[in-house]
Amino acid sequence: MTKKIAVIGAGLIGVLTALRLAQKGRDVILIDRSFTELPASGGNAGIIAYCDIFPMISAKLLLKVPFWLLDPKAMIALKPSYAFKMIPWFYELVKSTNPKRKTAYIEAKLSLMKTALADYYDLLDTQDRAKLIAETGTYYLYSKQSSFDEDADIRKLKADYGYQSEIVSPKDAYGRIDGLEKGIFKAVFEKDSANLTSPIKMLDYMREKAKASGVEFVTGNVVHIERNSENIQIDLEAQDALIVDEIVVAAGAFSRKLVNDLGYDIPLDTERGYNVTIENPPFEFNTGIIAKDAQIAISSFDEGLRVGGGVEFAGLDAKPNYKRIDMMLNLAKEFFPSIPDDRGVRWMGCRPSMADDLPVIGQHPRDKRVSFAFGHGHLGMTMAGVTAKHISNLIIDGETDIDLTPFRVDRF
Ligand SMILES: Cc1cc2nc3c(=O)[nH]c(=O)nc-3n(C[C@H](O)[C@H](O)[C@H](O)COP(=O)(O)OP(=O)(O)OC[C@H]3O[C@@H](n4cnc5c(N)ncnc54)[C@H](O)[C@@H]3O)c2cc1C
Repeated sequence: MTKKIAVIGAGLIGVLTALRLAQKGRDVILIDRSFTELPASGGNAGIIAYCDIFPMISAKLLLKVPFWLLDPKAMIALKPSYAFKMIPWFYELVKSTNPKRKTAYIEAKLSLMKTALADYYDLLDTQDRAKLIAETGTYYLYSKQSSFDEDADIRKLKADYGYQSEIVSPKDAYGRIDGLEKGIFKAVFEKDSANLTSPIKMLDYMREKAKASGVEFVTGNVVHIERNSENIQIDLEAQDALIVDEIVVAAGAFSRKLVNDLGYDIPLDTERGYNVTIENPPFEFNTGIIAKDAQIAISSFDEGLRVGGGVEFAGLDAKPNYKRIDMMLNLAKEFFPSIPDDRGVRWMGCRPSMADDLPVIGQHPRDKRVSFAFGHGHLGMTMAGVTAKHISNLIIDGETDIDLTPFRVDRF
C-alpha cells in the first residue's frame, strides 16, 4: 500500500512541497484551514530576492531598535502588551547577531539562494514562466544621504559575492520608473532579483497544478498532532481526525504549536506586515521597488499597485491596525505623488519569523516520518521552490544535495 503523506499549510511553501511529492508519485493530502483567505504567500511584495544572503539584523542595527519602537511613525512597532511574550525570541535574535556567526549564516543562505529561481522555474510550464516571473531586478530608493551611506557596507559585500548593482541618479531614476517623480537622493538598481507579476496568481497557479497532479485538498484547522509507532493522527477542529503515514509541517507563522506537539519548542514568532492594493493605478512599472528609509515596498502587480511592508510585533491573534497603512501610503506618496487616496483593499499578514532569521528545513531528528518547512521570514516567496525541492528529496530519496544542518529544528 502506498504511504499517505499530509502537508499542513497551503501557503506557497506547502503547495510547492505537495506538488513536488505528487509529481514523484506520492499520495498527498494538503490541509489548510482556509483556501479562500489570503495567507502571507498571497499578500507579499513578490520580490524573489535571491541576492539577499546577508543577515538582516546586525549588532549595529539592533541599537536603533529602541528608537524605532519609540517613534510612532516608524515602520517597526511593538505592541506593549505583547512585549513580555517576545523576550525569549529577542534573546535568541540578539545571540544570533554575534559577528562570529556571520560567515556561516551567509554560506547557509547562499546554499539555498543559488538555486532559488531555477527551482521555481522547474515547477512552471515553460510557456507560463514569463507570465508569472519577470527577471527585472529591484530598485532601492534612498531619500537621505545618511541612509545611502549606511548601506555602503552591504553594497560592497554584495559586490564581493558577484551580485551586480548600479548607482542611479535621481534624474535617471525618475526617467526609468513610471510614476516616480520626487523624493530621491539616490537609487540603487540590483540586477540579481526577480519579481512575481502577481503573488496571488502564482499561488493559485501552483494550487491548480498541485490539484492536477493528484494532490487532495482538505479544508480543516489542525489543532493537534499525535504520533505512534503505526501512524500519525492529525486532529482537526470540529471534524474527524485524519490518519496518515507521514507529515510535513508548512503552516508558516502558525507552525510553532504544531512543532510543540512533535517535541520541540522553537523561537518562531511573527513580524506582521500590512499593505493596500489599488486597482487601476495611474502608473505601472515592472521592477521591484523598495523605499529604503521608509522600509516599504511598492509593487506593480497584474491586479494593481501594492504599497506595503513594515514590521509589527503583536503576535498572531491581535486585531490588525490598519492605520499603519495610511502611514505607508503617505510615505509612498513622497516618491509617487499620484498614488490615489482612500482606495484599495487593505490586508495584514503574518511573516513566519525565526529569531535567527534562518528557516527550518529538514526532518525530525528522531522520526523521519515528520518533516519541517517553515520560518522563512521576509523571504518565503524567494525560498519556496528551493525548500520544496529539498524537503521532497529528503522524503523520497532520504538525502538532498546541500547540507541542511543550519536549518535543523533542534539548532537552538
Ligand atoms: C507584507 C509582506 C511582504 C513580503 N514580501 C516578500 C517578498 O517580496 N519576497 C519574499 O521572498 N517574501 C516576502 N514576504 C514573506 C513571505 O510572504 C512569507 O515568508 C511566505 O509567504 C511564507 O509562506 P508559507 O507558505 O510558509 O506561509 P503562509 O503563506 O502564511 O501559509 C501558511 C498556511 O498555513 C495555513 N495554516 C496555518 N495554521 C494552520 C493550521 N493549524 N491548520 C491548517 N492550516 C493552517 C494558513 O491558513 C496558511 O494558508 C512578505 C511577507 C509580508 C507579510
